[in-house]
Amino acid sequence: MFSVTPKLEGLTPYQPVEGTYALRLDANESFLDLPHRLKNQISRRIMEVSANRYPDPAASDLCKAFADFYGIDPSLVTAGNGSDELISVIVNCFLGRGETLLTLDPDFSMYPFYAYLAEAHHIPFPKGPGLFLTADAIIEVCKQYNPRMLLFSNPCNPTSLGLVREDVRRIIQSTDALVVLDEAYMDFWNQTLLGEAEQYENLIILRTLSKVGLAAFRLGFAVANPRLTNLLKAAKSPYNLNMLSQVAGQTVLESPEILRDAIAKIRNEKENLLQSLITLQHNHHGRFTVFDSKTNFVTLLMENPATLRDELRSRSISVGLPLGKYLRITAGSEEENRMFLSAFEAWLQNK
Ligand SMILES: *Cc1c(COP(=O)(O)O)cnc(C)c1O
Repeated sequence: MFSVTPKLEGLTPYQPVEGTYALRLDANESFLDLPHRLKNQISRRIMEVSANRYPDPAASDLCKAFADFYGIDPSLVTAGNGSDELISVIVNCFLGRGETLLTLDPDFSMYPFYAYLAEAHHIPFPKGPGLFLTADAIIEVCKQYNPRMLLFSNPCNPTSLGLVREDVRRIIQSTDALVVLDEAYMDFWNQTLLGEAEQYENLIILRTLSKVGLAAFRLGFAVANPRLTNLLKAAKSPYNLNMLSQVAGQTVLESPEILRDAIAKIRNEKENLLQSLITLQHNHHGRFTVFDSKTNFVTLLMENPATLRDELRSRSISVGLPLGKYLRITAGSEEENRMFLSAFEAWLQNK
């Protein structure tokens, strides 16, 4: 009788938030779709694609467009089917079974999942009540556990907090671990290490276009020195990124003003949302705390966030799944944020 290998027993498919909601502030997506002009341009370019031929395994044109947009050397770039795929490849290939992966808890929910499948020795080190560890604390934890790999997001999902560049540099330089620095939200902050990735022997930076408006196309990138880039390109599945996505990503990255404009709009709406929440926090003293945010979402800390989540859902507003005492809310458009804020304020007043 066939039986599955024990590690697969009990696994269930990933469940995104289901149901229809007037307002979706739950997945850290952009509230902006692509302009029609750009979609037309993508369609025209897709008409040129030879459907019978395999895509470019190196996704060279896409990587070049990515590198140009961010002002880096294209030879340091590997494209993935979302950065999620790259996390999976890196955790599976740069770690042997039983080797130590250190993460900081809470952090991106997929890290433990891939660590589990890779049969790594995963240590999720708790960040403590402030949900933040200083660089010195992280350096100490690395000394304590001597991991093969340190993986964390900066700025962090779900806390929205970040470490400044100099702190991250010190962490990388202080450890023999491979540091996988997930900069999924760095388009919304100015502390990227992309420009110096090549200088470190032990750094892979991950980026994604999912948070800036291209989630549908699954476009992730890894940036690292040539040695690590070669290993990553050798380890990934050769045709990991289909030609439709390559073309879409290249087209958007070659319209830098549209992408920059979208990023600026998202940053602006997040900032307004954050300021409104800080005002609400003063007016409803002790009811909740809003964290500083370097991302496209805000994180609230409160007793029993599930009751707020349920109340918002009853008004057809979907926010992130509550994790312990915090709740994550993606910045929407001005009008969407207004709808969320008025529902939140009503909840604060009624309770
Ligand atoms: C959204 C997210 C990702 C995944 O991005 P994709 O490119 O869509 O796979 C990776 N890391 C963090 C921290 C994220 O929040």
